[in-house]
Amino acid sequence: MRQIAVIGSGPAGYYSAEALQKQYGDAVRIDMIDRMPVPYGLIRFGVAPDHQSIKAVSRRYEKVALSDNVRFVGNVSVGRDVSIAELGALYDAIILATGAPDDRPLEIPGGDLPGVIGSAAFVGWYNGHPEFADLEPPLDVAAAAVIGNGNVALDVARILAKTPAEFGGSDIVGHAFSALGDSRIRGIYVLGRRGPHQIAMTPKELGELGHLEDATPVVDLADFPPLLDDALLEPGQRKSVSHLRDFAGLPGGKRKTIHFDFFAKPVRVEGESKVERVVVERTKLDERGAAIGTGETYAIDCGLVVTCIGYKTPPIPGIPYEEDRGRFANDGGVIGDGLYCVGWARRGPSGTIGTNRPDGYEVAEKIAADLGPGAGRKEGGAGLDRLLEARGVDIVTFQDWQRIEAAEAARAREGSPREKFVAIAEMLGARGR
Ligand SMILES: Cc1cc2nc3c(=O)[nH]c(=O)nc-3n(C[C@H](O)[C@H](O)[C@H](O)COP(=O)(O)OP(=O)(O)OC[C@H]3O[C@@H](n4cnc5c(N)ncnc54)[C@H](O)[C@@H]3O)c2cc1C
Repeated sequence: MRQIAVIGSGPAGYYSAEALQKQYGDAVRIDMIDRMPVPYGLIRFGVAPDHQSIKAVSRRYEKVALSDNVRFVGNVSVGRDVSIAELGALYDAIILATGAPDDRPLEIPGGDLPGVIGSAAFVGWYNGHPEFADLEPPLDVAAAAVIGNGNVALDVARILAKTPAEFGGSDIVGHAFSALGDSRIRGIYVLGRRGPHQIAMTPKELGELGHLEDATPVVDLADFPPLLDDALLEPGQRKSVSHLRDFAGLPGGKRKTIHFDFFAKPVRVEGESKVERVVVERTKLDERGAAIGTGETYAIDCGLVVTCIGYKTPPIPGIPYEEDRGRFANDGGVIGDGLYCVGWARRGPSGTIGTNRPDGYEVAEKIAADLGPGAGRKEGGAGLDRLLEARGVDIVTFQDWQRIEAAEAARAREGSPREKFVAIAEMLGARGR
């Protein structure tokens, strides 16, 4: 029996488990270890609460989780509760699917002023991540700047722009729902260093902004290349750019405005003791398509800055790490002897949920090729349980998670699928054992 530990229960972890099941059938035991007492990684804590159809992918993972040879071992942090070396002694292979949960810092003067918040923290706050529940982002301000031109920036802008009624059917956590309901923010500035043709925003997410109840997206058509140039874009990007162009024709009159500032590079954040404004340098593209500063600057008065400029994987002592790319050093998912990585921990923070699937399948094949005839004699989960029990670690099983999920559904606000528990103690308490 092959014993394999998958660290992380986000999409990459589940696709790996699914691939291992296909590879080995019943001849494998998979322990999926997660530092949180709840599974699914960014499906729960990243994907926007008003995008329930995307979150529904977790139902597919549930099938894998409920198979006899897969076990969820939640509330166990690798590196804190158990080391990679200890896991190496218990399992034939270890797959790191730990994602990229840390914000890249905004490395400009004033980038650490109160009111500058990374998207992992802001998104974690509205999605009920226990580490960010007490964030209290300043929403009693007139304007917010959202730095970045990808889908995370769009999520943040949309969440800041929505009315309480528009959160119907979402699983936004109570503290964020009420704080956003009281928000005084009327201007939301989405800042991108390059132009409309260089955005990394998908059509569906952009199109949504044109239909918000109380907010209008605004663009300056002077920022756009000639219309004919859109024909050179690949179809998805062309559709996104066409949504942006359409924003120019929308009537105003709503209370909130989402301004798309292109060719806008933040150079410093200013304020006495907290954010008061962002100073932005206008840019232009050089012949390689990189943004270069023009020296011309302007200021955006705002009391909140959310940076959506990427993430990195936290290093684990002893595991080779690529600092500049914020991920584990690996060759096609292989880190070293018996140690593999998948998903954002392997590739860095890019791509959608589905992009993580091939990683799992590739790594399962590599494991099958690497594990020699001597494999299959390690102790696996029984050894892990003994070790964790001796350390007083309170493991959460998948059945526990199902009870937590049922308890969340039972206390849901009317019209929402659940009211998430935010504190770890509450999650553990909801297991009812
Ligand atoms: C804000 C945001 C919104 C997104 N929205 C969408 C969307 O709408 N559609 C879409 O297709 N994609 C979306 N994505 C991308 C998608 O979420 C990622 O592609 C995907 O989650 C990456 O999967 P992963 O398994 O590599 O990492 P994650 O989902 O981050 O999972 C990593 C898991 O590892 C666990 N872990 C980390 N460290 C340890 C440790 N030391 N010990 C034990 N466990 C550990 C974590 O708790 C977590 O459960 C979004 C991403 C973000 C950031």
